[in-house]
Amino acid sequence: RSGYRSSTSVFYSKRKPVPLPPPSTPIDAATFISTRPHPGHIALIDASSGRHLTYPDLWKAVHSVSSFLSLRFGIRKGHVVLLLSPNSIHFPVVVLSVLSLGAIITTTNPLNTPSEISKHASDSKPVLAFTTADLLPKISALRLPTVLIDEDQFEEMMRFEPGRERRVKERIDQDDTATLLYSSGTTGLSKGVVSSHRNLISMVQIILNRFGLDREGGGKPETFLCTVPMFHIYGLVAFASGLLGSGSTVVVLSKFEIGEMLSAIERYKATYLPLVPPILVAMINNAAAINSKYDLRSLRSVLSGGAPLSREVIEGFRERYPTVRILQGYGLTESTGIGASTDSAEESLRYGTAGLLSPNTEAKIVDPETGAALPVNRTGELWIRGPYVMKGYFSNPEATSSTLDSDGWLRTGDVCYIDEDGFLFVVDRLKELIKYKGYQVAPAELEALLLTHPDITDAAVIPFPDKVVGQYPMAYVVRKTESDLSEKGVIDFVGKQVAPYKRIRRVAFVGAIPKNPSGKILRKDLIKLATSKL
Ligand code: AMP
Repeated sequence: RSGYRSSTSVFYSKRKPVPLPPPSTPIDAATFISTRPHPGHIALIDASSGRHLTYPDLWKAVHSVSSFLSLRFGIRKGHVVLLLSPNSIHFPVVVLSVLSLGAIITTTNPLNTPSEISKHASDSKPVLAFTTADLLPKISALRLPTVLIDEDQFEEMMRFEPGRERRVKERIDQDDTATLLYSSGTTGLSKGVVSSHRNLISMVQIILNRFGLDREGGGKPETFLCTVPMFHIYGLVAFASGLLGSGSTVVVLSKFEIGEMLSAIERYKATYLPLVPPILVAMINNAAAINSKYDLRSLRSVLSGGAPLSREVIEGFRERYPTVRILQGYGLTESTGIGASTDSAEESLRYGTAGLLSPNTEAKIVDPETGAALPVNRTGELWIRGPYVMKGYFSNPEATSSTLDSDGWLRTGDVCYIDEDGFLFVVDRLKELIKYKGYQVAPAELEALLLTHPDITDAAVIPFPDKVVGQYPMAYVVRKTESDLSEKGVIDFVGKQVAPYKRIRRVAFVGAIPKNPSGKILRKDLIKLATSKL
């Protein structure tokens, strides 16, 4: 590769740009995806039951469900629809049906508690919900019209024939909102990330291009195993939209269990396996048993995203699964998916890299102190700009303006550098976010909860590093002087009120929380203190 152009302090992607429809063409993401030419047959298979939808089934179902939503529920452009479900072959049907109406899909983690989901709903204001029979009790308090996607009711909807009834056809512009996924961004509580049809369309094109599934890459469909959650941007853009533009087959695991994942690879001859790092670690730790029990010869690529992958893990995996290449991706909810990726095993061997910037992407590395854009190999905050960068945070102009500048640059909150060949390295996080097994945990949410304990006068929550889960929440707590509150007392108090992945797993009691003169918690000091003994 030739030297890297950085004289302007803006880094341009080294990948060839992907073509996008002119921004003024009125087209929704679902129509864009369904009109990609492809040779595929089976779109989605449920790994455990073998039930499947062919591509004609999928697009017929999307037409029927969207007609039903429009004619029977009165769903219109701009309405928000909540989807609370584990992965299923019906999940993409709901997403694409809602998008095709110009309505907005909002998702939430099925592990969340009813009160966490209520908070989400009181912000996003859905008019209709899709869920499963098991999860229904979590949203019954919302009193929304609700459809169960694992019952006959949904099967009937997928067969609905509108007959002579005509649904209102509304014009959908690419700039219209498509999805509202929740992320805590760089600070504070979870916020709705507003992504447009344009954002999704460009990410779909990038995904097809990165996987070699567009015409230029040969367009040969692959068999993907979907273990990552579809409610998260990773699963949503890959499996509930992007890859369905390629004719590939998506084998869906509704619940993650490593044995089921491995037998599904064998049974369906999966070629691609997108994962988060903790699953790679589990595959390394159990490699001998796995290799003797399962035939994984079909597997050619493992894609890791959502959190950093260490050299130790890459080497460990390559040693135990020498025929499988590891690819990496970096992205965030606010970038509607992949901002950088590797596309060959050689690229991944630049240890620590998250890859080259995605096509159609510009980046800056900004000194957080001075605001100056830095040259190659200098570390600062990564800012990115591209057609997939979110429109902003829902009903939150303050958070929007501190994250997106007027020229369209997204402040990622990640500390990175870009080397002379254009490879991105994520080295730290400036933002408050904790990532437990790839799931987002917002320290501010746990701190607010801790402060409701009668014996706690102040608290700060930080990420504590862990080889298996990535990071888990650790709390620094200031107790009232006369209190005998224990570590277990703190852990249980929070554990009862939050989803399991948000639990505090370590506590230290201190006399005061270090803060700067304006009262901001000095998290870096606490992180240093917590990890100094490691
Ligand atoms: P989310 O919005 O849940 O996808 O979280 C996005 C954040 O996850 C990013 O801002 C990074 O901090 C982290 N992240 C995602 N992918 C990677 C990666 N490949 N390497 C390091 N950190 C990552």
